[in-house]
Amino acid sequence: MKFDVLTVFPGYFSVLGESVLGKAIESGKFSVQTHNVRDYSTDKHHRTDDVPYGGGAGMVMTPDPIMRAIEDVDPLHEARRIYLSPKGSVLCQSKVESLAKEDRILLLCGDYEGVDQRALDLAIDEEISIGDYVLTGGELPALVLINAVARYVDGVLGSDESTGEESFSNGLLEYPHYTRPEVYRGVAVPSVLLGGNHHDIAEWRLNRSLEITQARRPDLLVGKDMTQYMPVKKRKHRK
Ligand code: SAM
Repeated sequence: MKFDVLTVFPGYFSVLGESVLGKAIESGKFSVQTHNVRDYSTDKHHRTDDVPYGGGAGMVMTPDPIMRAIEDVDPLHEARRIYLSPKGSVLCQSKVESLAKEDRILLLCGDYEGVDQRALDLAIDEEISIGDYVLTGGELPALVLINAVARYVDGVLGSDESTGEESFSNGLLEYPHYTRPEVYRGVAVPSVLLGGNHHDIAEWRLNRSLEITQARRPDLLVGKDMTQYMPVKKRKHRK
């Protein structure tokens, strides 16, 4: 999987060297290449923005440096081309999983008031938002998308980390976690987790998941066939 990121602020992407994603990039599991849109400006001052037609506050990114950058980085339109935008469809886990199946993703980060609509109409496949709020630029949204998608790329997460049993993977929020010590500041770990009975642990976790989802995100349960969440029947123990 390869990400190409078009931005006027490539410095944002230095954080990708950190943590498990940094290791995955180092070992070649996926790659992220940034391209400075400013380098594609033919303006003698390398300008990439101008005042909006029709008036109004702020500056708009001009179409030509963006088009030149896209045509240089992805000349045959092999990448899924995404513009990060608050007007896009909001990123969710199922979208993350489907993007992880792409071989190449090109991310265009807007800045200032956004991008001239003609560049979007001519070159972009879809617009994705990371939530109903407005940030100063598309760089943090691009990092969020890369992080979420890269977790689904083979070999990126270690064998002890998994995407299989976490929030949203089965349509629910995840159950609470506990680790050592057994009692912390007078609060004990739920005894079922210490008992070693896998069926009881699975049932307890499912019930906590359902409770947390019902309390915090009831919208996730609307229209769901709840029988899919019925805990597996307890096996009879032989005497
Ligand atoms: N004028 C735009 C509007 O009202 O929709 C907002 C522009 S915003 C200040 C600058 C850039 O940040 C956008 O072009 C986009 O690339 C990015 N951006 C801001 N909020 C975002 C969000 N929630 N999701 C994805 N990208 C976002």
